Amino acid sequence: MPASDTYNTLADRASAESDPMTRHPRPPSREFKARGSFVTRCAGCNLPELNCLCPYQVKAESHAQVWLLTHPLEHYKPTNTGRLIGDVLAQTEVFTWYRTAPDKHLMALLEDPRYSPFVVFPDDQPDYADRVVTLGAVVDAKHSGKIPVYILLDGTWRQARRIFRKSPYLDALPVLPLRTERETRYRLRKPASSAHLCTAEVAVELLRQGGDVTAAAMLDDYFDVFNDSYAASRSYHKIETPTPAMQRLSAKRDAESSAKE
Ligand SMILES: [Zn+2]
Repeated sequence: MPASDTYNTLADRASAESDPMTRHPRPPSREFKARGSFVTRCAGCNLPELNCLCPYQVKAESHAQVWLLTHPLEHYKPTNTGRLIGDVLAQTEVFTWYRTAPDKHLMALLEDPRYSPFVVFPDDQPDYADRVVTLGAVVDAKHSGKIPVYILLDGTWRQARRIFRKSPYLDALPVLPLRTERETRYRLRKPASSAHLCTAEVAVELLRQGGDVTAAAMLDDYFDVFNDSYAASRSYHKIETPTPAMQRLSAKRDAESSAKE
């Protein structure tokens, strides 16, 4: 055992267990670590290395696309699930929302006639009731040769509402409320209600309902792996037995790599 892992004298032991200034008992170092700032993260997926997401990254094809309009405070949160969508669907676009400076690339895409964009937002306020559409409009867009796009406002509930209200370039777009019985499975933040889905779950349900069933299932599995891996790492638990979602994604990856050979 290396010297640093053992206590040579009673004095050493006392200094490890109490604060050197106050001599008050110190919490075990494990509690400091639990806050997450000392965790080593994988450079590939930004998850704690203990349960890394990289072995489960697979690409799926979909008719519809997802464009994320992400609040700047949301971007760097490791618990953000919007980023999972781009890992699975290669066509995903991610924009940072700034109230006074709309993203030029987003402005160009909104003018592009190949796309039929929908702002995904609840229909609980009367002042935009005339813009509310159902999923039938997504199917119609697909049949007329356009690429349906789900614009997701990625942030807390308050931030999403602010983005919706303070972005004039969204004002002309149809509003698509998500209707689902799904309850959230997200374990990394405490939802106000089980009906509040996280961003990746919203994308899964929209893709599924819009007919992109395979892409939806793969994103759902990827979300589950992220959710379980992150939650396990928080309690220093290494997942030794792959979950069903991990097994499905691994099988998919194996099939892809043998197809390339
Ligand atoms: Zn990784």
